Amino acid sequence: MRQEGPILVTGGGIGGLSAALGLARTGHEVTVLERSPQLGEIGAGIQLGPNAFEAFDHLGMGDEARAMAVYVDRLRLMDALTAEDIASIDLTEPFRRRFGNPYAVVHRGDLHGVLVRACRDNPRVTLRTGATVSGYEQDGASVTARLSSGETLRGAVLIGADGLWSRIRARVVGDGPPRVTGHTTYRSVIPTEMMPEDLRWNAATLWAGPKCHIVHYPLPGRKQFNLVVTYHNGAPEPVAGQPVGMEEVMAGFTHVHPRAQSIIRHGRDWKLWVLCDRDPVERWVDGRVALLGDAAHPTLHYLAQGACMAMEDAVVLSQEMEAHAGAPEAALEAYRRRRVLRTARVQLQSREVGDHIYHPSGPHAALRNAIMSAKSREEWYDAIAWLYGDTGLDRSPAESRSSVPA
Ligand SMILES: Cc1cc2nc3c(=O)[nH]c(=O)nc-3n(C[C@H](O)[C@H](O)[C@H](O)COP(=O)(O)OP(=O)(O)OC[C@H]3O[C@@H](n4cnc5c(N)ncnc54)[C@H](O)[C@@H]3O)c2cc1C
Repeated sequence: MRQEGPILVTGGGIGGLSAALGLARTGHEVTVLERSPQLGEIGAGIQLGPNAFEAFDHLGMGDEARAMAVYVDRLRLMDALTAEDIASIDLTEPFRRRFGNPYAVVHRGDLHGVLVRACRDNPRVTLRTGATVSGYEQDGASVTARLSSGETLRGAVLIGADGLWSRIRARVVGDGPPRVTGHTTYRSVIPTEMMPEDLRWNAATLWAGPKCHIVHYPLPGRKQFNLVVTYHNGAPEPVAGQPVGMEEVMAGFTHVHPRAQSIIRHGRDWKLWVLCDRDPVERWVDGRVALLGDAAHPTLHYLAQGACMAMEDAVVLSQEMEAHAGAPEAALEAYRRRRVLRTARVQLQSREVGDHIYHPSGPHAALRNAIMSAKSREEWYDAIAWLYGDTGLDRSPAESRSSVPA
């Protein structure tokens, strides 16, 4: 395919690297521009639904991804006030049969590292660090990225995979800063021997309480548990990765059951994030420029799907670039059309699950418990099939063009 220079990808996170890999596998030269001096990820664990494994297979890294994962047996929902079980979803053989892939947890660093290595091993991918993209121009035949150093780079297409605070989005969409939700998340890890013995479950567990929730799951190697806790404190300003003491974390959990509190007490090296997201938008494309991952559809992490969606984006983008060889603007528009509704649903349902399942109190919480505890395994699978099963990654581009409304 003749193209006016490489595909330029802004951002070397999970989304940008997945896109680089997918595009390189379909024959494109790709240059990734990452502002940080080193490629890396913050945070210990990340949950991956079956849809992520489907994406890994498309990106040619399915075996490596499966090898680094720990396979949890259940998604377990607990009542944080009473410490009673509300519901649990079986993730073993019946789940894998239904969705064709497992549910698992990996180290963020391992996942990112596998992507970096795969990109480094691919002669079509150039990774540049310390390269901050400040803007772009385009002329109908090519796009030029401007770096903050003053350097310019010409490419056939520019992908904005530069995260929540995307500079590329500011130009493509122009919808101002993200929405600060007032929900604050604190992340930590617990050495397994410090985790209360009766809670060392091989499960991704969520304790739901009034205006708060606690999540824990074992990390690969089983030497540590990942611990992520969230509460509404009305924080007005976005903050990311700020170290905090235990007292601040506990302040949001004084009302929950001592068993739930005991998990938090064992956390260490706590860091906080004030959560932000955005309303879904339909405009992700400006000629030869398109958004991907959090830059396109930043979501609360309540469905544990932000990175999964970024990887799905990468697969669809590379499929459409291949299907529309020589017509990048048509390819980007086809990519957008295939992704916009599914990612909007994840953004909106992530908010909803916070308000209506994780954080309610009183009769609302009692109703949640009654409804959720009554569901059978098959009813649970039906309820989550839209997310884990109906990914659209295997649809041919022609099919998807006719089935997804603009
Ligand atoms: C507490 C928490 C838990 C989560 N848990 C899960 C989970 O279990 N499962 C899941 O799937 N998702 C989860 N997520 C979401 C997931 O982490 C993100 O959706 C995902 O990492 C987004 O990847 P990205 O590549 O789009 O963006 P990012 O990871 O933000 O990467 C953007 C990259 O672009 C770079 N960059 C930014 N600006 C520029 C610029 N101007 N020029 C060049 N480079 C630039 C940045 O340095 C960064 O490397 C969680 C999120 C949080 C906060």
